[in-house]
Amino acid sequence: MAARAWDNVKIVDHPLVLHKLSLMRRKGTATAEFRRLLREISLLLGYEVTRDLPLTYEEIETPLARMSAPSIEGKKLCLVAILRAGDGIVAGMLDLLPSARVGHIGLYRDPETLGAVEYYHKLPENLAERLVIVVDPMLATGNTAIAAVERLKESGAQQIKFVCLLAAPEGIEAFREAHPEIAIYTAAVDERLNEHGYILPGLGDAGDRLYGTK
Ligand code: URA
Repeated sequence: MAARAWDNVKIVDHPLVLHKLSLMRRKGTATAEFRRLLREISLLLGYEVTRDLPLTYEEIETPLARMSAPSIEGKKLCLVAILRAGDGIVAGMLDLLPSARVGHIGLYRDPETLGAVEYYHKLPENLAERLVIVVDPMLATGNTAIAAVERLKESGAQQIKFVCLLAAPEGIEAFREAHPEIAIYTAAVDERLNEHGYILPGLGDAGDRLYGTK
């Protein structure tokens, strides 16, 4: 485990998150279980990434007294899944944020160059007014996350956060160099990438494990 501290990187190392992540890492964990665990962890990551949402106060009456009660100010939210594994995180976050809009960006890693190639792009309108939460389980080389955030900035997004499940130090460094103002939320930072751009020890290919495609 990397013992580094980076500005703007929030490690959500709650015991529940770490326990569920260990179950996901095990190679014997079946697809249905992996999917359920990702959904549960995503809800917990969503709890952290929305921690600083602005509150507004209004007078309400409880059965016993009047009080000034807090509620979320009505900040518009947009979740953006990097396809395809990002969809697994969106499912859990929507349990917590059912009114959020959802965008999708399809990027795959060229197996030779490990560079990001875009094949799909569908985003809600008025991104400039929204808190945009970009999600992808694995921040490996960082190329796809960097490219997705570039597309979002080109589309007008101004307030962006990035959420993943696992990050490699290489991916964090690259992302911070490209987008230093954007906070990264992750459950853990693993040791390193292997020569194919996979995170070690990691959990394998998140998309394949989520959809049972291998
Ligand atoms: N994408 C994955 O699904 N797994 C990795 O380890 C790296 C990138």
